[in-house]
This record gives sequence, structure tokens and C-alpha cells, in this order.
Amino acid sequence: MKFIDEYRDRELGKRLIARIHHQSTKPIKLMEFCGGHTVAIFKHGIRQLLPKTIEMLSGPGCPVCVTANSDLDKAIALAHLPNVIITTFGDMLRVPGSYSSLQLTKAEGSDVRVVYSAQDAVYIARDNPDKSVIFIGIGFETTAPTIAASIQQAEQAGIKNYYVLPLHKLCPPIMKSILDIGEVNLDGIICPGHVSTIIGSYPYQFIPDDYGVASVVSGFEPVDILLCVDMLVNQIETGQPKVEIAYRRGVKAEGNQPALKLMYTVFEVSTANWRGIGVVPSSGLKLNNRYQRFDAETHFNIDPGPIREPQGCICGSILRGVTKPPDCKLFGKTCTPEHPVGPCMVSSEGSCATYYHYGADYGG
Ligand code: SF4
Repeated sequence: MKFIDEYRDRELGKRLIARIHHQSTKPIKLMEFCGGHTVAIFKHGIRQLLPKTIEMLSGPGCPVCVTANSDLDKAIALAHLPNVIITTFGDMLRVPGSYSSLQLTKAEGSDVRVVYSAQDAVYIARDNPDKSVIFIGIGFETTAPTIAASIQQAEQAGIKNYYVLPLHKLCPPIMKSILDIGEVNLDGIICPGHVSTIIGSYPYQFIPDDYGVASVVSGFEPVDILLCVDMLVNQIETGQPKVEIAYRRGVKAEGNQPALKLMYTVFEVSTANWRGIGVVPSSGLKLNNRYQRFDAETHFNIDPGPIREPQGCICGSILRGVTKPPDCKLFGKTCTPEHPVGPCMVSSEGSCATYYHYGADYGG
């Protein structure tokens, strides 16, 4: 299949691996920020193919995982309101909040429905005019434009019972935050592929300029990732950190301007609360004044109650790249994909679930 087969080419992959081995002389740390990259790297056994000089870390790029308990609790509190239909992406259903999950709330009788897009939620609102339909808006810059489109669609159709709980996160500010925290001394960053299709590569320029860290945007096939690592190693070994794109078929430096315009017509930049990192200025999106009436949090009166973190769960430090899933005492014992304790074991892009499914020796 075009655009797939050539990026899974074994011979090309072997050549890239050989070149990486040849180029890499000093110990370096690379972080992939995107949960999709984490899955691809494990699925294709890429960590094992790289030289011992390269340590790969996973970052805070799984949208479900980085959603703070305080925000999950808001979604659950909204689900308890009468005459409300909660609509959400499937991954969010089983994520435990402080005391419950959307799945448990559904089992108790709340109307919680999985949708594949925010547009589906608008249709549910249209078909249920006597109910308030709330979409749980999680995700990065990749999904925010589609949610913005759903809000405009609802407005244009005169649908008055559609709301969004905006929990969106922005990627470059959290990269900056991880670099500022400085717990992991990164030499290079594998920049997210899907996010970059929207924002482009320009927003990453601060990474080499301000931190002297190499950065390359990657796709999700094995050859994409190996090419990205090869380019990162080259930048690091030659002492020339910059921003490059190893995913030219999906990403332009300037991004997708119509999608960005749509996103910023409906949303404005705000603070966001990240699991394991805390409140980070300018790292999220909220509805702007013009579209404020669609904001579920301001429209409904909810009291999510006190926040409680899952005991023993170290998702927070895993999301900062400080620890790895096998460092958690609960990993694979009391915490499994069937009985997840924390969000990193629930989401298909979560580090713990990925280690569980693909990290056969748990050594990563
Ligand atoms: Fe949290 Fe489970 Fe991962 Fe441990 S294994 S960090 S409890 S999600």
C-alpha cells in the first residue's frame, strides 16, 4: 500500500540502523512526546535495535494520561447531573478519577456514550433536544480544530443543548515545561507527528534556540522513526541542534493554517492542569468569549469534591520521563489493562499499557 509499504521497508530500515550505530558515539537521551510514537517504537522493537548509547524516554503525549484527576472528576460530576448525556472518546471511559470513572458512573445509570468524533455528539444533541449533551474535549492540537468545528456546526444549526468540557492541551508549552523542570537531561526530542500536521514545525524552534536540544518531527512507521533518530543523532554528534522534519508527507513547516484559524476562532490559550506536572500557563485551550455559552463547566453548577490520587501510582513521574512503568510496584500485578489503577494503563497510548503489551522483558 502506497505511503505504508515504503515506510516499512526492511532493507531501508537496516541501512538506517547501521547508520545510526555508525554515527552514535556518545551517550544521549531522546524523548518521544507522542503516545502514538511510544506504541510504534515498542511495537516495532525499535529500542532494541538502537545502539546502547541511545536511551529512549517517553513523555507526556498521551491525552488521556495527562488529564488531571481534578478534570476527570469534573467530567464524572457532569455525568451525575439529571437530563445530561455525556459523550466521550472511548479511552476516557475507564480512566479512574478520584473516586469513580465514567464507566462506573454509566453502570450506575448515567447516560454516557462513546463517540468517534465531536460531530457525532452534535448529532446526539440534535436528536435529543430535551437533554443537555456534553462532549468531553480532551486531546492536543490534533483534535481541537475538529471540536471547534463541532461547536460552530451546533451554532449554525441552532442546536442549543450542546456543550463541551474543554480539557485541551498544547504540545510546545509542555515541552518547554519538561525542559525547564530539567529532571531529565534531554539531548533530542522526537516531535509529535499528528500534532505537527496542525501546528507545523516552526513552534519547536525554541527547543534548539533556547535549550540547545535537537528536534525532529517523526511519522509513525518504523522507517519514519529510524530516520528521525538518525537525524537527531546527526544533529547531536555534529553539535548543530535544529528543527527538522522526517515526516514530509504529513507535515509542513507552517502547519495547517485553516485548521489553526478554526481552532483559534473558537478557543483561546489558557492555563491547563497536567497530571504529574501541575498547572502550566498557556498550555491549554478554553472557549473564548464569543463561544462561552458552549462551555459545560461554566454552564453547569458542579462540585467534583476533593481530589484523590491513586495510591502507589507513579503515572505522574512516568509522564515526565523520570521513571518507567516497571519502576511502579503495581505494574503488571495489581495494575493491568483489565484492572487499571492509573490512566497510563488504561489508554491504548499510555506508557504502562504499551510496556505491558509490547515490552516483553519490561526492560524497554
Ligand atoms: Fe499507575 Fe498502573 Fe502505571 Fe503503576 S502501572 S504507574 S499504577 S498506571
